[in-house]
Amino acid sequence: MAMSGNLKVLMCASEVAPFAKTGGLADVVGALSKHLRKLGCDVRVVLPMYRQTKSLQLKLEALPHKIFVPVGIHHYTGYLWKTTTGDGVEVYLIEKDEFFDRSFLYGNPDPERGDYEDNAERFIFFCRAVFSLCLHIDWTPNIFHIHDWQASLVAPYLQYHWRNTDEFSTARCLLTIHNLAFQGIFPGSYYGITHLPDHFFNMEGMEYWGQCNFLKAGIVCSEFITTVSPSYAKQIQTPEYGHGLDGVLRNRSDRLLGILNGIDYDTWDPANDPFTVAPFDSINLSGKKLCKKHLLKELNLTPDLLDHPLCAIIGRMTYQKGYDLVHAIAPTIFDHGAGLVVLGTGIPEIMKLFRSLQQKYPDRCAAVFEFDESLAHRIEAGADIFLMPSRFEPCGLNQMYSLRYGTVPVVYATGGLDDTVVDAVEYPDKGTGFKFYKYDVDNFWEAIRNAFDVYAQPEKWQKIQIRGMEQDFSWSRSALKYMELYEQIIKTD
Ligand code: ADP
Repeated sequence: MAMSGNLKVLMCASEVAPFAKTGGLADVVGALSKHLRKLGCDVRVVLPMYRQTKSLQLKLEALPHKIFVPVGIHHYTGYLWKTTTGDGVEVYLIEKDEFFDRSFLYGNPDPERGDYEDNAERFIFFCRAVFSLCLHIDWTPNIFHIHDWQASLVAPYLQYHWRNTDEFSTARCLLTIHNLAFQGIFPGSYYGITHLPDHFFNMEGMEYWGQCNFLKAGIVCSEFITTVSPSYAKQIQTPEYGHGLDGVLRNRSDRLLGILNGIDYDTWDPANDPFTVAPFDSINLSGKKLCKKHLLKELNLTPDLLDHPLCAIIGRMTYQKGYDLVHAIAPTIFDHGAGLVVLGTGIPEIMKLFRSLQQKYPDRCAAVFEFDESLAHRIEAGADIFLMPSRFEPCGLNQMYSLRYGTVPVVYATGGLDDTVVDAVEYPDKGTGFKFYKYDVDNFWEAIRNAFDVYAQPEKWQKIQIRGMEQDFSWSRSALKYMELYEQIIKTD
């Protein structure tokens, strides 16, 4: 670690836990920042000030500057706030109520109502405001670590607006893609409001079949690109998983790397989890049984399930996550005496399916359609098997939480799921979960049935649980990799 003490990194993201969260991105940015700081990096964070953030009643310091940000023909005034996390990371919040004081971060989760119509303006504003922030606090990072499409335009703004200034001449961009399915695509007519140079709206630049593609702009203008698992880094360079950007990514393959996300062991620790009723660890698993008993009661499920596998799934209810497969297989799961717990919000049709399932099997099936962090912990602690049949999964956090909580994952062998779970059928002495390799209901069921078979052999089952619990998915390991990459970027450019 040659220069870690001096390395300055600004995390630019549209969500950061605990300030604003819709999914894994928030967890990653929050935890990575904390661990980079532990490594001696001067890491700071910037995100918009949402209504969700305001409701947290944070201790905030108002910075004594207004910022003026042009978007199209408008000049918007924004305000800057600062807070510090319990771990000492400085966090800047950009306030512009017109854009961010809303019920949701990106739009109504009901697809009928969809994304906010002004998302392009909102995140152009955010990306440009980042530079004003740096100037006002008189602090310029060596690396802008930008995340997903919402922060992607920081890269072209650096390249075309700021690179030739004294303040930003040595700054570089690292883009992390958390999910390539979300690219921030807007009509080509929006290009004018970015104020980026005309020549950048072409095939080598931000243009994508006549439209504006924010993520593509980030990919082509960043010095380096990472994604959140080694397998996903390979997959996104193929037409099957490339969401139309595989060619663009292949062009940058020498600057593209997969770094597996870690999980925050301070927050997700079964031995010390304020949300659960009994602690447990890989040496003494007895508390897990108490957690299961409590969960069954909390969700009004039959206590008979104490002696049968309790399956669970948590996550955004979208096509990606494979809820359709879980729904299709549920009656078979119940026929085998097992139970199912579902926690998620998202597409109304999916919620409707699980609502009916719960009505049909009230003893064995519980479905909760809320975003409930504490319940997520109790489910991880109390369930036996975690189902994660994602069609694609850049990294996935829930399977890692499950491993940590002795909740054996059954996953589709894709992306980060493939990188983090070892198939107990293929590798009986090393297995930490069960995988299926062809995406259909039959193969999914076969993997679940294999899990049920081993569940019926408690000694064997416990070995799988313990192996999973003892895996190291710590952030310190991943943060070190990012640190090395930052230094490489600074040196090579
Ligand atoms: P993604 O980022 O694609 O949504 P991940 O598995 O990487 O999926 O991360 C999802 C994160 O969001 C996890 O921390 C998970 O526990 C949490 N989460 C998702 N939906 C819910 C919910 N309804 N209630 C509580 N936590 C949720």
